[in-house]
Amino acid sequence: MTTTVHAMIGLEIHVQLDTETKMFCGCPVRYEAAPNSCTCPVCLGHPGTLPVINRRAYELAVRTGMALNCRIATFTKWDRKSYYYPDMPKNYQISQYDLPLASEGWFEVDAAKGPRRVRIRRAHLEEDAGKNIHDVGDRTLVDLNRAGTPLLEIVTEPDFESADEAYQFCMELHRLVTYLGVSEGNMKKGQMRFEPNVNVRIVTEGEEVRTPIAEIKNLNSFRSVRDAIAFEVDRQVETWQQDEGYVIGRAPNENRGWNADRGVTEFQRAKEAAQDYRYFPDPDLVPALLSAAELEALRAELPELPRARGRRWQDEWGVPAEAADTIVADRATADLFEAVVADGAPVELAAKQFTNVWQSLANARETTIAGLGVSAERMSELVRSVNEGAINKTAAQVLAEAMLTRDASPDELADEMGLVQVRDVAATEAWVEDAFAANAQAVADARANPKKAKAAAGFLRGQVMKLSGGKADPKLVGELVNRRLNDVSK
Ligand code: ZN
Ligand code: MN
Repeated sequence: MTTTVHAMIGLEIHVQLDTETKMFCGCPVRYEAAPNSCTCPVCLGHPGTLPVINRRAYELAVRTGMALNCRIATFTKWDRKSYYYPDMPKNYQISQYDLPLASEGWFEVDAAKGPRRVRIRRAHLEEDAGKNIHDVGDRTLVDLNRAGTPLLEIVTEPDFESADEAYQFCMELHRLVTYLGVSEGNMKKGQMRFEPNVNVRIVTEGEEVRTPIAEIKNLNSFRSVRDAIAFEVDRQVETWQQDEGYVIGRAPNENRGWNADRGVTEFQRAKEAAQDYRYFPDPDLVPALLSAAELEALRAELPELPRARGRRWQDEWGVPAEAADTIVADRATADLFEAVVADGAPVELAAKQFTNVWQSLANARETTIAGLGVSAERMSELVRSVNEGAINKTAAQVLAEAMLTRDASPDELADEMGLVQVRDVAATEAWVEDAFAANAQAVADARANPKKAKAAAGFLRGQVMKLSGGKADPKLVGELVNRRLNDVSK
């Protein structure tokens, strides 16, 4: 008997929008503020207060919906979703129920079998809840600073077939929202939270059964998305193998939590149906209307998206895929890269300097390449200096670092720091001679043992570069070292 198993996975993602103030009041959105210091009668749910829509949150949501190829509603209303927990003192959450702001879109990601279009069911605006803090003695504390923070909830169709595909999607979506400036996307601060819906279709000799759907709540890292889904798929298959009654309709759908320490999902409760939330239109808010002109203006502002941009660099400029991926992740850095190329720097070498030299400097300073603050003209000059052979790659690394604190051009700095490449054959010969004299064993290895020859020659080239203070032309050094190795009389 042959049995095949097909996972069916959908995602719900909550993205915190990058606004100064909350969704329906003027309170600042501050992660580090003292508990309950960013609150007002509106987000505390005092009777008689009235919410006002945050226009920027609305525009950021529309922008994301467009980037996800969704239909954008020109009329959206607001609904109350009953929610009875201390972290939401109004006892309801303002959300969008039957008329979401965006619907029926798609988003392409790289899957194992190639690019794959994932359908987006909907995206709507809502407000976040506060935080219940349970680990203070035997008490629970409530911090309402987060209550009312704007969230965009994005819901996909169950189009993922594996944990890996869902994982790729989350990464790509993260890149999109940070690129668009829609969200800071800081995972540590919980600015992106994931809730996978998982069940499996089990086909045995043409007979098909489906397991109940499990929603895994509140995952806040890409890794937990991948690990939790992979575990859950296996768990459902095993549960069905032990109990054939474990099928959708007969056993309840459930909410589960991910226990990262044990690496398992754990039962929380049977899942609510929509009617349990008692949605109804919020009488305090007017619907949001978007005119055709406003819609067009927002559409015109939408930039070329990171995935398409990286593809274009690969196809038209021959930038290697990995380099394109790295550079395109940050929009300002991608703009800078294009400006460097426009300034006349050869593309391939520019891409190398971005991913090797500048990226490591940026990482060490916990910023982006654009965040380093070096102009496109100066970066381009550094690329051209290496390309023309005026300086070598080792010197480029040193110069780049100096360029962060000094405003001089890379050529001036190279002069001043004695990094202008020495292509003088006699001078280079002398360094080679010294290196051979000081490393007789490596020379002997290189000549006598073919297995060690390559490593020994590399070592000798390194020694020559060192003797030259990094100024020798590596190409010339390579030639001279090889020539000398082949000449056993020296
Ligand atoms: Zn407030
Ligand atoms: Mn939600």
